Amino acid sequence: MYKTRLVKVGPYTLGTGHPVRVQSMCNTDTRDPQKTAEQINQLEAAGCEINRVAVPDMQAALALGEIKKQIHSPLVADIHFDYKLALEAIKQGVDKVRINPGNIGSIENTKEVVRACKDKGVAIRIGVNAGSVKYLKSVAGQVDLTDDKWAEVMVQEALEQANVLEQLNFHDVVVSLKSDDFYRTLKANELFAAQSDIPLHIGLTEAGSFLCGAVKSSIALGTLLQKGIGATIRVSLTEAPRLQVRTAYEILKALGLREYGPNLISCPTCGRTQVDVTGTVHALEERIYNDPELLQKATGLKIAVMGCVVNGPGEARDAAFGIAGGKGEGLYFEKGQTMFKLPQEQWVDFLVEKIKTWKK
Ligand code: SF4
Repeated sequence: MYKTRLVKVGPYTLGTGHPVRVQSMCNTDTRDPQKTAEQINQLEAAGCEINRVAVPDMQAALALGEIKKQIHSPLVADIHFDYKLALEAIKQGVDKVRINPGNIGSIENTKEVVRACKDKGVAIRIGVNAGSVKYLKSVAGQVDLTDDKWAEVMVQEALEQANVLEQLNFHDVVVSLKSDDFYRTLKANELFAAQSDIPLHIGLTEAGSFLCGAVKSSIALGTLLQKGIGATIRVSLTEAPRLQVRTAYEILKALGLREYGPNLISCPTCGRTQVDVTGTVHALEERIYNDPELLQKATGLKIAVMGCVVNGPGEARDAAFGIAGGKGEGLYFEKGQTMFKLPQEQWVDFLVEKIKTWKK
């Protein structure tokens, strides 16, 4: 099992022995603090614990203080090349900066950033993406590199960057090694974890649209998390950031690492089905995941929506409660015991009420 050092980001301690935290990134213009804070508030309502924003210029850096005032979660400033943006972001009160020492000019610039981080207790994330590693860019299309070689080069770059900070006696560091390729991401993170105690922020970058991105991310992140690698996770989907958060939690939930919403058991339906199982499940999820209070109440509950009584209550007997369909109606059951019949149009409201009043 890998063991990491601990790094503080806002109220959270990241690293071995602490919960894996869910991160996301805004897709608003950071120069518009209202819109950005609004999106972060929505992400927070969905359970996002750490939020990152792009800081492409000084106007964006200067907006960070206003954003901070309107949100509750730690804020990460994503900065490329300009150390002055990092200094301003730190002054504005961010909790972490994502910046690579190798990309901000002289060592004097890095020293200034480190000094400011130390003063304010701000952590640094070094982010190595396969697409931006200099060596990998230089040989792109000319040399056919193995996935292992890709991983090796990414890790080398991350260690070099981390070493610059270590030399300056700065240890509040998180590293990320991302690629759009499952194997390279896996290899790079494993290789890094074997050589360093720096906690890793894990994710598969540019994972794609909802379904393929969620599947790829689940396999990659799930494999790493099972090995104890990953202090924070982000699922990068070409989708609304809220869905990225939901997917991240579903991965953590499936691995038993975090609780988030109910464990909803529903059957795939078959020729016996005479009720709308799919519509019921969608409507129920819609209600739960758009209502933070209900989401909280439903967390940890096993709820079943089954298509028929032939297999329904039996297969879902370890659910706290559930419904098994008949013809336009269903049998409500609790812990495998059937209770009474319920018309289908009442199912969703009834299950929501049950969630609200159920004693866990
Ligand atoms: S629970 Fe019933 S309706 Fe659903 S798949 Fe199984 S047999 Fe078919």
